[in-house]
Amino acid sequence: MSQTDLSPATRVVTLGRLPAEPGGSVNAPLVLSSTYHADGPVNYARGGNPTWTSFEDVVGSLEGGHGLVLSSGMAAVDAVLALVPVGGTVVAPAGAYNGVVVTLAERAEAGTLSVRFVDQQDAAAVEEALEGAALLWIESPTNPLLDVVDVGALTALAHRAGALVACDNTFATPLLQRPLEDGVDVVVHSVTKYLSGHSDLLLGAVVTRDDEPGRALHARMARHRQMHGAIAGPLEVWLALRGVRTLSVRLERAWANSVILAARLETHPSVTRVRYPGFGAIVSIEVAGGAEGAERVATATRLWVHATSLGGVESMLERRRRQSGEPETTPTNLIRLSVGIEDVEDLWADLAQALDTAADASPGDA
Ligand SMILES: *Cc1c(COP(=O)(O)O)cnc(C)c1O
Repeated sequence: MSQTDLSPATRVVTLGRLPAEPGGSVNAPLVLSSTYHADGPVNYARGGNPTWTSFEDVVGSLEGGHGLVLSSGMAAVDAVLALVPVGGTVVAPAGAYNGVVVTLAERAEAGTLSVRFVDQQDAAAVEEALEGAALLWIESPTNPLLDVVDVGALTALAHRAGALVACDNTFATPLLQRPLEDGVDVVVHSVTKYLSGHSDLLLGAVVTRDDEPGRALHARMARHRQMHGAIAGPLEVWLALRGVRTLSVRLERAWANSVILAARLETHPSVTRVRYPGFGAIVSIEVAGGAEGAERVATATRLWVHATSLGGVESMLERRRRQSGEPETTPTNLIRLSVGIEDVEDLWADLAQALDTAADASPGDA
């Protein structure tokens, strides 16, 4: 049985291991070495590491391409932006992850690229913006508005315009969406989130198709990683490899919890809007009482962790506009919930009491 015949839920467990041999280690080793004995495939550890390769085999297979691990999600974003020629145009959603919006705006300001922010749900606007563009950036679902787009349709528009396409697949994970199958050229991940899943490290990854153009893009980004120098620490990658083994069960549980919580939130009097695409484990809510009301909710939970970030086993919440650089497309009273794997009744009880407390404290301006 070849690995590609196995389901993704199996491959997260089986891939990235060394060939079985009597007495050999069951787990991929953590290789801590800055250099290797001469005349092997890798010379110096800025160019490669066996622990990286194990993790790349897993993420590459799950996405249906070749993985490349980087030191953070933003390092993965940077590796993709390095594919854009100097002065080239990037088309990106106005409501993308704030790190992406901020870095594109700063580079446009510095003159190294030009950016056109669009509502990516408006295909006609995307098509118009793609005129002469070098790269289309897709994020679906978006962080934190959870906008979902037809990745294949936007990709076709971009390719017709001669642009490369990158898709940030952090929220969906390759278990729910595989953008390479829709024709996307580069998939981007913040491994920090679901793939590693324990809020204990920062890492990123890009994945490219296993064809001639895909291999060329992979080689360029691998070269960027090596010469840019911001490489992933082997310990972080080893922890991510350990974390990804449970991706399927973590996501299954967190998704099931999210469906239940989203339905209950719909009927809570302090909640004015629930954004949930029906899959995955991020639910964004808008609450009565504006930004202050949202702050009261976010600070009144005991079980839910009040912190930024997402995708870990523990449930976490945050009013997103607390972050400087958060796009104005995000409502000031929006709270992003990253639903974890705890017991759903415990999660609901804590969230409901926080919403009730905030409502009681509010001057009644719902
Ligand atoms: C967190 C995040 C990133 C950035 O990843 P880091 O690992 O924090 O550098 C990129 N895209 C999305 C959608 C994210 O949620």
